[in-house]
Formats: sequence, structure tokens, C-alpha cells
Amino acid sequence: MRATVMFGAGDVRIEQVPDATILEPTDALVVVSRACICGSDLWPYKSMEQSEFGRRMGHEFIGVVEAVGSEVRTVKPGDVVVAPFVVSDGTCVFCQEGLHTSCLHGARWCSDTDGGQGEAVRVPQADGTLVVLPVGRDDALMPSLLTLSDVMGTGHHAAVAAHVAPGKTVAVVGDGAVGLCGVLAAKRLGAEQIIILGRHADRIALAKEFGATDVVSERGEEAVERVRELTGGFGVHSVLECVGYAESTVTAVDIARPGGAVGRVGVPQDQGVPVSQTSFYKNVSVGGGIAPVRAYIDELLPEVLDGRIQPGRVFDRVTNLDGVPAGYRAMNDRESIKVMIAF
Ligand SMILES: [Zn+2]
Repeated sequence: MRATVMFGAGDVRIEQVPDATILEPTDALVVVSRACICGSDLWPYKSMEQSEFGRRMGHEFIGVVEAVGSEVRTVKPGDVVVAPFVVSDGTCVFCQEGLHTSCLHGARWCSDTDGGQGEAVRVPQADGTLVVLPVGRDDALMPSLLTLSDVMGTGHHAAVAAHVAPGKTVAVVGDGAVGLCGVLAAKRLGAEQIIILGRHADRIALAKEFGATDVVSERGEEAVERVRELTGGFGVHSVLECVGYAESTVTAVDIARPGGAVGRVGVPQDQGVPVSQTSFYKNVSVGGGIAPVRAYIDELLPEVLDGRIQPGRVFDRVTNLDGVPAGYRAMNDRESIKVMIAF
């Protein structure tokens, strides 16, 4: 079969790889119908050292179950399924607490299994990991359903960690796909004012359609001043940090009002984030982390199915597998917000 392999910074190729097969009785074999490129795939795209064997890519996908192992109970051949970006068994102590990303039997795509940006995937822990979608393979809702594998659940996690609630003021740091989904998440949780920090016209326009009430295009100290002006001098109750740089995290803490909360979902690109004194003296809680999106699918899926939320609008480009290397370039050059791969 064919799959996406990254060999180094800027070097993404479509390669012939061993066919995905069932190895464990808890596995399912899924033929991929939709996948996408993630903002987090761009970190290695910018920095990966050249490698002879490369690494498989892709952790967001929807597909059709081709076969299941002897112990799989909840999915069967023919089912259309969505896979969250982390494998989980659904039964261990952490899964039961809704923290599927800490599953005792969990795994990451592409490390000891296939990647989503390929023709088929062996899915470990299929019963816990996969969610059956009550739609056909090429349903018009596919883009929005695909966001449940990562970006919509991750934006929602930021909002939950930032304690977004009805009547609250919210700021979203970052106008990538996760930030945009964060706006949507804040809106559906009842936020009254939603300030998007970003500067790309197309992304800002979509943020407004998703519910953003104010736009701050400044950065650093100027951005902090601007948010304070928009919030009576206090800052916001809830900040969704959807970037991951030290600078954006400092801004996030600075624009939180005393007693507020920051939900971090941007993958940290620095070991140390110098926010502890600021957050201490303002009693700002800093939470969040890798999003247990499997836990949120049950809550978000009905709203995607009935069209109440349309997170799939973050996809502004569709390609086939051969177009994936160009898709990486387009996202890295910020010509595209998020690229969907249709098989
Ligand atoms: Zn578990």
C-alpha cells in the first residue's frame, strides 16, 4: 500500500510501505477514506533531521472497517469510523476518568503502528479507539466529522481547561485550525465576548463566522494592552492558548484577568515557560495539555450531525494522496489553514 513518509525537514514523500494487517485480536483494519495534515505535523516538517528510513505521518482519519480481530466487539466490517489522534482501550482507570491520552494501553499513531496519511491503518484497541459514524463513506459532513479526530476536540479541550462558561469573556491565542475550533467551542459553551488574536484575513473572517466578537492583530505587549482595553481594563476570564510558543503562552497569562484560567493546547516548543510569577500573583490557573479528544466525541458528534457546528470549514484545500507533499508546503507557507486528503 502507499503512505506518507517524512524523511527530514521539508522532505515528505508518498512511498510504498508494507500492507496494514491485523496483528492482535483487539485490532481492526481500516481502509482510510479521509485524512488530514495537522499543524503539529509542521513542527517536524520545519526541523526533522534527515533520516534514511523516515517516519510515517498522520494521526487524524476516517475510514471503513475492512476486518476485525477475534476480540473486537463494537465495530464490524463495513462500519464507517473516526479515529482520535491517540489509541486508547476505553476501559482503564484513566479512560474511565475521561483522560484517554493517558491510557495504560494506549499508543500513538506512526510510532508502533501505521499513520493516517496512508491507504490503510492497523488500529490497536479498536473497541476503545474507534467511534462508528452513522453516515455513508462520502457523506457531505465528512470534513466536520474528520475534525473530531483532533482539532475540534482539541479546541474544545482548551475551552474546558480555560473554564469557559455562559457570560464569560474569552480570548483565543492563535488563528490556526485549533484556534478557530476553539472559537467555535467557546461560542457553543456560551461565552459572551470572544476575542481572537490573529492576523490572517481569511482566518479572521472564519473566526468571526464561528463567533468571534473582537479581533486583536497586535502581538506581545501591544496585544495585552488591546485585550485589556476591550475588557474594561481587566483581561478575560478564559484564555485558549492554541500556539505553543513561549511568547504566546506569556501573552495568554498576561491577558487573563485575576482569578482567570488559561487552557493550553498548543504543543509546547520550549522547555521552560516563564509565566509562574505572573500567574501566581493574579491567581490565574494554567491548565490543559494534550487533548483527550476521544472523551469529547460523544458530546460533539450530535451537534456535527445536525449541523449546529460546522468545524469542517477549517479545511480550505482538498487533495489526494499524491498531493500530500504539496499540502505540507501550502500549510507551512500559510497558504492553507488545513488540508484534507480524500482517498
Ligand atoms: Zn485506557
